[in-house]
Amino acid sequence: MKILVALKQVPDTETRIKVAADGRSLDPADVKWIISPYDEYALEEAIRIKEAKGAEVIALSVGGDSVKDVLKNALALGADSAVLLKGDGQGDAFAVAQMIAAYAKDKGFDLILCGNKGIGGDNAAVGPMLAELLGVAQTSVIVKLDLGEGTFRAEREIEGGSEIVEGALPAVITAQKGLNEPRYASLKGIMAAKKKTIEELEAASVTTGAQITALTLPPERPAGRKLEGDPAAQANGLLQALKDEAKVF
Ligand SMILES: Cc1cc2nc3c(=O)[nH]c(=O)nc-3n(C[C@H](O)[C@H](O)[C@H](O)COP(=O)(O)OP(=O)(O)OC[C@H]3O[C@@H](n4cnc5c(N)ncnc54)[C@H](O)[C@@H]3O)c2cc1C
Repeated sequence: MKILVALKQVPDTETRIKVAADGRSLDPADVKWIISPYDEYALEEAIRIKEAKGAEVIALSVGGDSVKDVLKNALALGADSAVLLKGDGQGDAFAVAQMIAAYAKDKGFDLILCGNKGIGGDNAAVGPMLAELLGVAQTSVIVKLDLGEGTFRAEREIEGGSEIVEGALPAVITAQKGLNEPRYASLKGIMAAKKKTIEELEAASVTTGAQITALTLPPERPAGRKLEGDPAAQANGLLQALKDEAKVF
């Protein structure tokens, strides 16, 4: 079995985001990059399938040189090899799906796992579009996956219940929180990753359907105010502020 896992690098949630000078992308300075959390579930699932049934796991990311750290981490966690599809500038979810499809189409993957969405972008579109471009089955936001002989059975959490989806491989499947508990890289894994290489390929040139034209951050929150005095005075101050300033009463 051959499994491709698509990994997106995203800023660590503790990073203070700044908009770059072009006004439509993130300033990469001082950003700590991590694997998008939903992609961690996808990668963990691939490694568990490899451990249970035997599989070759290939981690792939579209982006610039900074994406290599995410791929190195994937190798330390248990991916067998990694591919960086290098593209100029930025692109939308459709561009990313086309690039991954162009790479994957003749490689005989049985299963392609993605996160259900890349945090930050939140399009939740790359996986389903990839399946469409490759002409294979797809299901999304799964919390359980069982593989049979050339088949899959997935459980999706839906509003008020769960849904079981069955289909034939190859398929593109996107992972939801709860699918598994991602592991940490072991020292042995980190050492083994040093011997593995990242294949760097030029991403296919594609048509970008839409462009990000502006990126803005929410307005700064006004500074907080500390209420002084004993508890009764503080309670009174809070009541006055709710009445006179917030107009709650
Ligand atoms: C030429 C080019 C260069 C890019 N360079 C960078 C870069 O340097 N840094 C960066 O962070 N992003 C880069 N991107 C990616 C881009 O900014 C977004 O990833 C893309 O718009 C998808 O956004 P999303 O997360 O909302 O997609 P969603 O549809 O929410 O993503 C769903 C899932 O698709 C997969 N996926 C999404 N994006 C990627 C990706 N880039 N690589 C592999 N799998 C992916 C993941 O499994 C993810 O969980 C580049 C894109 C292009 C076309």
